[in-house]
Amino acid sequence: MHSHSCGFSSDPHNDSGRFPVLAIHSLSKRYGTRQVLSEIAMSIHAHEVLALCGPSGSGKTTLIRIISGLTGFDGGRLQIADSIVAADAPYPGNLFGKVGVVFQEPNLFPHLTAIENVMLALREFKRLPANQAHERAMVELERMKLASLARRYPASLSGGEKQRLAIARALAVDPLLLLLDEPTANLDPDLVDEVCDRILELAGAGMTMLLVTHNVDFARQAAGSFALLQDGRCRCSRDGALLENLRSRRK
Ligand code: ADP
Ligand code: MG
Repeated sequence: MHSHSCGFSSDPHNDSGRFPVLAIHSLSKRYGTRQVLSEIAMSIHAHEVLALCGPSGSGKTTLIRIISGLTGFDGGRLQIADSIVAADAPYPGNLFGKVGVVFQEPNLFPHLTAIENVMLALREFKRLPANQAHERAMVELERMKLASLARRYPASLSGGEKQRLAIARALAVDPLLLLLDEPTANLDPDLVDEVCDRILELAGAGMTMLLVTHNVDFARQAAGSFALLQDGRCRCSRDGALLENLRSRRK
C-alpha cells in the first residue's frame, strides 16, 4: 500500500539489490576480558528483514549499538550502504541519519507532543522547515496509526503508542536500515499486537530491518532470514527452523 511513497530507499544502490544495506564481517567485541561477540558475520539486503534472536546477555543489544554507532568494537568491520566502518576508526557521521534505531525504551522527549517528537528529528537530521517537518511527521504518525494522538504528550500515551511513536520518529528521517531492539519486550501483553502489526506492515512495504525479538512466532512472520546469537557466535539461516532451537531451550 505504501510501497513506493515511503522513501525507504533513497539510495539507488539499494534498489539494485546488488549491495547489501548492511554487511558485518568478522566483527568482535569485548567488555574487559569478556568476549561478547566473536567474529560475527551477517548481511541484510534491501527490503529484507533479518530477525536476530538469542538468550539474554548474548550480545544482541551490543550488536545494535555497534551498528548504530553508539558503541565501538575491537575487530572486523561493518559495511552500511557504501560506507565502511573499521574497528579502529570513528563512526562516519553521515550514517547517523541512515540507521534508525528503536530500543526497548522509547526515549521520547516528555516536554514535546507526539508530533513535536517526530518533527524534532526531522528538523535535526533533515533540516526541514517547520511546515514541511509537520507535514512529514503527520504522514509517519498516520502510518503508525497515531494521527489522532498527534497533540498528546508521551506521559498520556500507552506503552504501545509510545513505542509506535518511537518507530514513527525513526522512520521520519528515511533511514536505509531500521534496527529494532526487542520493541515489544516492555509492553503489556495486550499491547504487543498493535506494535507487531505495524512492524509487519513495514516489512510488507519493503523496509529493510534488523529485528531483535524473543518472540519466535513474530520473528517467523516478519522476517525472511534469521540469525541466532549464542556464546558470542552467530548462525544465520533463511530457514526459521533455526529459531526453534531457542524456543525449546526457553521452555
Ligand atoms: P542482550 O541484548 O543479548 O541481552 P547485551 O548486548 O545487553 O545482551 O549484553 C551482552 C553482554 O555484555 C552481557 O554480559 C552484558 O552484561 C555485557 N555488557 C553490555 N553492556 C556492557 C557495558 N557497557 N559494559 C560492560 N559489559 C556490558
Ligand atoms: Mg538486549
